[in-house]
Amino acid sequence: MVHQLLSNNDMEFSVESLEKDLNKMRRYYRSGKTKEASWRESQLKGLGNFIMEKDDEILKALKQDLGKHQVEAFRDELGTLMKSLNFAIKYLRKWMAAQEAKLPQIALLSSAEIVPEPLGLVLIISSWNFPFGLSLEPLIGAVAAGNTVVLKPSELSPSCASLLSTVLPTYLDNDAIKVIQGGPTVGEQLLKQRWDKIFFTGSARVGRLVMAAAVEHLTPVTLELGGKSPALVDSLSSSFDTKVAVKRVLVSKFGACAGQACIAIDYVLVEKSFSSELVRLMKIWIKEMFGENPRASNTIARIVDENHFTRLESFLTDDPKVKDSVVYGGSMDKDNLFIEPTILLDPPLDSAIMTEEIFGPLLPIITLEKIENGIEFINSRPKPLAIYAFTKNKTLQRRLVSETSSGSIVFNDAILQYAADTLPFGGVGESGFGNYHGKFSFDNFSHYKAVAKRSFYTDFWFRFPPWTINKLQL
Ligand code: NAD
Repeated sequence: MVHQLLSNNDMEFSVESLEKDLNKMRRYYRSGKTKEASWRESQLKGLGNFIMEKDDEILKALKQDLGKHQVEAFRDELGTLMKSLNFAIKYLRKWMAAQEAKLPQIALLSSAEIVPEPLGLVLIISSWNFPFGLSLEPLIGAVAAGNTVVLKPSELSPSCASLLSTVLPTYLDNDAIKVIQGGPTVGEQLLKQRWDKIFFTGSARVGRLVMAAAVEHLTPVTLELGGKSPALVDSLSSSFDTKVAVKRVLVSKFGACAGQACIAIDYVLVEKSFSSELVRLMKIWIKEMFGENPRASNTIARIVDENHFTRLESFLTDDPKVKDSVVYGGSMDKDNLFIEPTILLDPPLDSAIMTEEIFGPLLPIITLEKIENGIEFINSRPKPLAIYAFTKNKTLQRRLVSETSSGSIVFNDAILQYAADTLPFGGVGESGFGNYHGKFSFDNFSHYKAVAKRSFYTDFWFRFPPWTINKLQL
């Protein structure tokens, strides 16, 4: 049975019982059970059963914590997770298989292979905005790779964290997988323990603490962080393409947990000559998608808590120039943690909204003389998690790929890279390092061991001394 170390209340956390539990998990790992393919498969299937059988509870928890519409929740969490699980189950044995390798000719009569092995006991700390996706997607990789795992979901989505810590364990091997609830204090205690890997999703601030803690035991870490992901919107010759681009930009901001997504579009870059048309179309399509009164619509998620609400509010209220740049929306309802989809045109580039990650339904549009200047604009800022560009200009597409750096780059859409099992998902520079999804998740939680074998039969003469000059025949 899962050892319920804690409730939401950090005060109930017991380091002593944590250490005892971790020792038991290490022993369990050493028993070899988690390395068996059948064990890994059974845990992946257990995860799938949890999602399928508890879908109503999951949707309810997402509604409670974040006000997510069930279609959005299915699209971004349940559906995506089931896809990832099916992919992992299908390819697991292939991923686990040793790969043959060649040794240099000097190693006569030899063979070699690369054998993936689990790392051991790993820690996953996740964020609140996709509480199931960001907890279970790495868990799929950790379990597929044969590790024992402690998962700490975020305290800011408490209904989801509670479901993960009370119901999920009934589907899994509790000797190998534990869910621990808690906030920063619990996180800090967990980071003091010895892990074979720490997989962290969250802010760069806490990411730095994770790295600092990992130094103690030389623990490898993956940091899935965020940042400001730009979207260049070129003026497209066809009105059909323009409409599609506008709709995709809007849904990738306001329809992705109300912009509280690491790969949500943070701001838009557009040519000055096209900016008023873009704003006009955005106004039309925001109304189409979220209704005349988005507050009454249940299609836009809520801000996670009062702290984040105040942070977002202060982007607009602290700087009158930012407030003046609002061209659409801007209304807020603190009691309901609601912020209207809001568009800003050319807020000052040194304002907080243009220097900090927004993580909410505020969309600045920055005008440029030429869309190509977007490359320099992006390169003068920290490397983003994603770059999006809505353009048919092949030269611009090529230049963006070769002249900028980001975790991912997507043309003519946004966010869909998250759902790809075939692409590595992760950041670069300040948006993090390490990646996962599909086989990349398996790799993330595996060590690839080099195994070489030789026959006793023969060696080249120059292998062993004494070396004599006449044997070399110079
Ligand atoms: P956060 O860093 O505040 O919290 C993340 C996790 O760390 C939570 O589980 C939290 O309880 C824990 N934590 C907080 N303080 C801690 C401490 N002192 N020691 C140990 N653990 C601690 O981030 P957040 O508010 O959950 O998420 C927002 C950030 O995460 C944004 O920057 C966003 O871009 C990023 N993010 C990235 C991804 C991605 O996949 N790259 C996904 C979601 C969010």
